[in-house]
Amino acid sequence: MSDASPLVIVGTGLAGYNLAKEFRKLDSSRSLLLITADDGRFYSKPLLSTGFAKGKEADELAMQDAATMAAQLDAEILVQTRVDAIDPATRSLMVGERRMQYSDLVLATGALARQLPGAEALGEHVLSINDLTDYARFRRALVSKRSVAIIGAGLIGSEFANDLAAAGLDVQVIAPDRTLMAGLIPTQVAEPVRASLEDLGVGFHLSKGIQQMDLTDAGVCITLEDGTRVEAEQALSAIGLVPNRGLAEAAGLEVAKGISVDRQLRTSAEHIYALGDCAEVASLSLMYVMPLMTCARALAKTLTGNPTEISYSAMPIMVKTPACPLVVSPPLTATEGEWTVTGEGSDQRALFHDSQGVLHGYALTGAAVREKLQLNRELPGWLV
Ligand code: FAD
Repeated sequence: MSDASPLVIVGTGLAGYNLAKEFRKLDSSRSLLLITADDGRFYSKPLLSTGFAKGKEADELAMQDAATMAAQLDAEILVQTRVDAIDPATRSLMVGERRMQYSDLVLATGALARQLPGAEALGEHVLSINDLTDYARFRRALVSKRSVAIIGAGLIGSEFANDLAAAGLDVQVIAPDRTLMAGLIPTQVAEPVRASLEDLGVGFHLSKGIQQMDLTDAGVCITLEDGTRVEAEQALSAIGLVPNRGLAEAAGLEVAKGISVDRQLRTSAEHIYALGDCAEVASLSLMYVMPLMTCARALAKTLTGNPTEISYSAMPIMVKTPACPLVVSPPLTATEGEWTVTGEGSDQRALFHDSQGVLHGYALTGAAVREKLQLNRELPGWLV
């Protein structure tokens, strides 16, 4: 290996591309190679769960193709190219039989949709949406269908419920949890979201696990533990995402929930870094856009000779359920404390305080969303 080998970024999601952009602001000469298993189109993943109501095709959500990105970044981009292995000792990676050297390597391999047990047998009738290709496939599968069963009532399942119902589809949501977004927001805050989605026509089957899934002439029949049979022409699995850490793990890098990195985004192997959904930064696995943007800016500095530690302020999430506006700044999982909920009807205000009375998180719905700026000022940083 020589330092003439390129800086290699694996992955062209928001993490990979934003890092490349930040890097090029600071270094216009070092050779840069991006490798991606997908087609390398630049798009904003959050738009996938608002595209149906707007009638957007996948091509309309893509902002730039790989060739345009390569020209803008003065980089080489290998598309439809999967990195199969990394050898940290020789600073090289394998694409099939081809060995490629890197000077520094950044893993931005994202997250994978959790697989619904038994879904393989139902083929295209049960899909998940975690990238532009999935979105295009789901849109194709929906042609001339009217009904969708969404499996999972987390943040992404709730957003798709709103979007697909607003697009005019009959939507039913199935989940073992008692409420929407359980674990993220308190029940009293989830209730107005659920009520607003019900007003849009969404049906809910909560607190019930799935016993069996079968293909029918019309689509799928999902039998729940209590015997309820939910029929739909199409199903969407939204049961969560897991950091894509397999490549790192196979190379012997330290992993926990994601690829373990320190505050300079260094993995346990020299010259290898990670950011985005695949990374667990100082024990925090935050699979959102704002943290990865913070990481991209800091890592660009580190890679250009200015080692920079990241710090995170609290980063609220605007949940895309326009039927009932919701903004959440979740407390970090290790924080002990409790929620206090006040409010009426669709305007709920939940505050999470520790035993010293320090605010660590909030969830606001309806008109209470207006309080977010004031509350943001009170929140302590997540990584200071
Ligand atoms: P990805 O976009 O998953 O990119 C991973 C890249 O790695 C891809 O290019 C893939 O091809 C490549 N790759 C993987 N393995 C290999 C390999 N072996 N070889 C080569 N290439 C490989 N966050 C918010 O903050 N707000 C929101 O409103 C929001 N809405 C969302 C809605 C949906 C439907 C989803 C799914 C997520 C949403 N998120 C939201 C989360 C946010 O979109 C993600 O945190 C972010 O897009 C992750 O970007 P990434 O680059 O880390 O991963």
